[in-house]
Order: sequence, then C-alpha cells, then structure tokens
Amino acid sequence: MTQQKTIKREFYLEGIGLHSGKRVRIHFVPSGDNRGVVFQRVDKRALPILTNINAISNANFATIIGTNGTSISTTEHLLASLAGLGIDNILIEVDGPEIPIMDGSARVFVEALLKSGIETLKSEKEYVKVSEPVSVREKDRWITLYPYEGLKITFCIDYSHPLIGKQCLSLEINPKTFTDEIAYARTFGFKKDLANFYAMGLAKGGNLENAVVLDDTGVINPDGLRASDEFVRHKMLDLIGDIALLGHPLQGHIVAYKSGHALHHKLIYSLMKEKNRWVYRNASELLHLTQRGPSLTA
Ligand SMILES: [Zn+2]
Repeated sequence: MTQQKTIKREFYLEGIGLHSGKRVRIHFVPSGDNRGVVFQRVDKRALPILTNINAISNANFATIIGTNGTSISTTEHLLASLAGLGIDNILIEVDGPEIPIMDGSARVFVEALLKSGIETLKSEKEYVKVSEPVSVREKDRWITLYPYEGLKITFCIDYSHPLIGKQCLSLEINPKTFTDEIAYARTFGFKKDLANFYAMGLAKGGNLENAVVLDDTGVINPDGLRASDEFVRHKMLDLIGDIALLGHPLQGHIVAYKSGHALHHKLIYSLMKEKNRWVYRNASELLHLTQRGPSLTA
C-alpha cells in the first residue's frame, strides 16, 4: 500500500515572479490526509484554491489556477516539484499573484522540500489509472496516454533552432528520477520573442539567472546549459506540473510530441470526460473523491 505524503516541517521561500516581476514569499505548511494541494493568497481576503481540474483558469505561457476571481500564476514548476516527490497534501500560502520563478527550474523547490522532510500519512494514495488510450491533438502537436503500471513519460520536441533541433527522452517518473533527471532543467525562451513578451506585460522578472535565453545560434547565458537536452527535460517538468492538476497522481504512459501547457490542459479535460478510459485505483474511496477530486460530472 502506498500511503499519502506531506512535508515534515513548515518553511518559507522567497523570490521574484517571472511575469509580474514582483517579490513573493511562499509559506509551505504540512497538511493532513486527503486535503490535497491547497493554495491560499494571504495578501487578500480570498478563498483557498484546491489543485484540481476546476482550478485551471489559463494556460498562456504559464499555468494559472484560481477560484472566484482570485488567481495564482506560474504554478507549474512548484506543482511539478510536489508531484515529482509524491507529496499529496500541503498548504501553500503566497502573498502575491505569482509563484516565484527561482532559478527557472524546480531545483530550489525540490531541495527545500527534501530539507523539510517527507512525512508519510495514514491514508492510501488515490491514483487516476488509465485503462484505455486517450489522445488529444492540435495541428502537429499531440499527446497520447496509454495504460501503464506507474508513471512514464516519453516526450519529443522539434525546434528549427540549431541548438535544440529534435530532442526525445523517455523516463520512468518517481521521486528519484524526478530529482536527478528533471528538477534541474530550466525554462527557456528566445531573445527575439522578448520584445513581444514585454509588450504584453509578461516576463518582467525574467533574466539570465532564471531562464535559458537563446539567440539565433546558441545560448546567451554565460554558463551555458546544464545538459545538452535541458530543453526536453524542462518540457517534461512542465508536463508533470500540468498533469498534477488532475488532483491525483496519474498511472499511465504519457507520450507527448511538441505539446505545451494548453494541450496538457486539454488532455486533462479529455481524460475527465472519457470516464470509461480510467479508474480510481482506490475505488472504495470514490464517494470521498467526488467531494474533493476532479469533477466526475465534467
Ligand atoms: Zn516551465
């Protein structure tokens, strides 16, 4: 039996929001069985935001979650860190509109969570287990989800940029592989797109300390890349964060080609609609899940 997890001790992290440029402080608080990952804006009177399909509010350049007019942006790297380490229940208090970008990867979150320690709770984990393939597509981008014992991701990207080109990676995802192979991969962007981002009021906090930036031929960061395939690893990191919006760990093999946040969210919606293609592994708790988990009536 695999039990649910939370963190051992509370702690704080502080940093700058990638898009807002605002300084934000996060308070990580241990939580109990079956509470889920819950975000709370403490800078305003707001309802808590429970991480599940109903909280998805936007997917342009970042994963924004929200409820009743209150939202939190750029949640994907933090959600990936929690999912990657198998943390099911935690309260995350933030005093601003965006999760800080830290170094552009999940490394700072993962190190801090591991330092706090992982606490095992009494209740069993509740998985969304894929029983029949599910696919979503948008032009030449697609994702297919296959039945699989555990979680595996196969991801391929194809950029016309000479340094990126085609990159494919297939990995069994567990706390060890997530920590060693995925967590360090940073977000990346193209110098030629920056003017557009600024014009849209985005990437105000972006700099070479928190993103890999590419010009027409290579990386302009003085220290270069952390791995030659850091790009596809970061896309996997984003995917792990986005599927965490199911509100439950997934059991399946995700095969993704050139996908991004919007298509990841489409996959979650499709999966929830096609109820004959997956099961809750812990069926005895189905009643409870209808109260807390992904909407079963979607
Ligand atoms: Zn990312």
